[in-house]
Amino acid sequence: MRHASSTVTATLPILFLVAHAGTVAVARDRATEVSFAWLIAAPFLAGLACLHRSVKEGLEGWLPLGLALLCWAGGMAATMVAMLYLDITTEERVSMLLYVLYGVPLIFALASPEDEKWQVRLVDAMLAAALGYLFYVYVNHLSNSPGKLPALQLMFDIENGYIALFAVMRFLARPGARYGFFRAAMGYALTYLVCAGYMNHFEADSDYGSWPDLIVDLPFMLLIWLALTPALPRASSAVAPKPRKFARVVRAGSPLAIPLTLLTVSVLLVSFDPRMAISGCVAASLGYGLRTVLVQLRNFEEQDQLTRLSHVDALTGIPNRRRFDEVLQREWKRRDQVRGRLALLMIDIDHFKQLNDRFGHSVGDDRLRSVALALAECARRELDLVARHGGEEFAAVLIDVEPQDAAIVAERMRASVEGLLLPAAHGAGIVTISIGLVCAQIHDNDLAAFVSSADAALYDAKRNGRNQVVHRVAPALRVVKSGPPPRDGRAA
Ligand code: GH3
Ligand code: MG
Ligand code: MG
Repeated sequence: MRHASSTVTATLPILFLVAHAGTVAVARDRATEVSFAWLIAAPFLAGLACLHRSVKEGLEGWLPLGLALLCWAGGMAATMVAMLYLDITTEERVSMLLYVLYGVPLIFALASPEDEKWQVRLVDAMLAAALGYLFYVYVNHLSNSPGKLPALQLMFDIENGYIALFAVMRFLARPGARYGFFRAAMGYALTYLVCAGYMNHFEADSDYGSWPDLIVDLPFMLLIWLALTPALPRASSAVAPKPRKFARVVRAGSPLAIPLTLLTVSVLLVSFDPRMAISGCVAASLGYGLRTVLVQLRNFEEQDQLTRLSHVDALTGIPNRRRFDEVLQREWKRRDQVRGRLALLMIDIDHFKQLNDRFGHSVGDDRLRSVALALAECARRELDLVARHGGEEFAAVLIDVEPQDAAIVAERMRASVEGLLLPAAHGAGIVTISIGLVCAQIHDNDLAAFVSSADAALYDAKRNGRNQVVHRVAPALRVVKSGPPPRDGRAA
């Protein structure tokens, strides 16, 4: 069924071209009128196909593309009225304006990143509007100028060339979910560039109603086919995966497209209207500057958020190992300020493996969260840090604390976890923790030895029966135990 419908979709543009050629051949005297009807219908139908796609897929990309094509159809209609009914043989101003305006929504769709904030997109839209105005000014000047044709050719070549370039870049930068749009935009823009280039440079003198009219249809027919044939990127796609760096460069550079086009049109205007040319340059630079500031603001916000996230343990929501390492190193360096009063607690859940084995990993995760919360509640001073050290191990850094107070906090943690009465799998029947505590001395100068002392204290707590705090005075071996007598009676 899908195959059949895609065959029909592919056949329609071909039938359109055959019908255009056939009716023009049959019409003879009225060939011009007939051909005009097809030339208006082609972009109009392509515009409708894009609007249809925008209704199905969201407004991004397809809507501006559809609007661009309707502009083009309007331009052709204005040409027809001017030539057939107003007896004006040169291109009428309205039609020329609509042809140049056609590029504005198209450049906006290709250049303005859809995931930017609305303020940034508004700046892009204003720059695109300024571009449209400069196009208008340029065309106005040209209508009074003797060297009109080459100047118009140059302007259209530049406009079409930029559009094709931007479309190719965006497509090559792996557009992901918007693959279908950028595939269509690239196919269309490249075909349009070639066909419009041929028509403007080699058939500029040919009359409407002759065979080159079919060339004008080609990009629109291709677009109809591409718009009506949804495409998803596949692994076997002919598009080779591009390095991520390239995608990043295109993503970062594509907002340059509108100011760049604006600058180019301003340069074209210099000899006709220097004031307008300067205004165009100023608008391009200020607009680009403004959007850079807005984007930078968003980047800073995101960076701050990422930094916060990079310091948080995803499972428990408390600070993670990275944060712990940072804080411990920082506080170790400035421990002189607190006369060496720094305490480190290494905390480990007892027999956690058995708990996992009995109740499953998701219950194990719940227990980890509960324990983390209880530990964090016990050390609430702003300077204190309780972190997940890894697996079922936690660590706490207490700053500017006397050893006896650190021991009180450690014992509070142990009792608090025990008091949760969380079902466990080993002898005691509830979740308990063992804690190794070490307090820095003013003369301690080896952080690794300090941490090892805390580990050793934790090991002692395990070996002595778990569910207890063992306090070592680093690096000496004075050992003080607290907590209830071991209930499971096992050593590690
Ligand atoms: P001990 O009392 O000697 O500390 O024994 P234990 O079973 O707690 O220690 P062991 O090191 O043998 O096992 C730790 C277990 O913790 C093994 C591992 O599957 C589990 N674990 C580590 N990280 C996670 C986690 O994020 N979620 C869950 N559910 N389990 C974890
Ligand atoms: Mg354990
Ligand atoms: Mg462990």
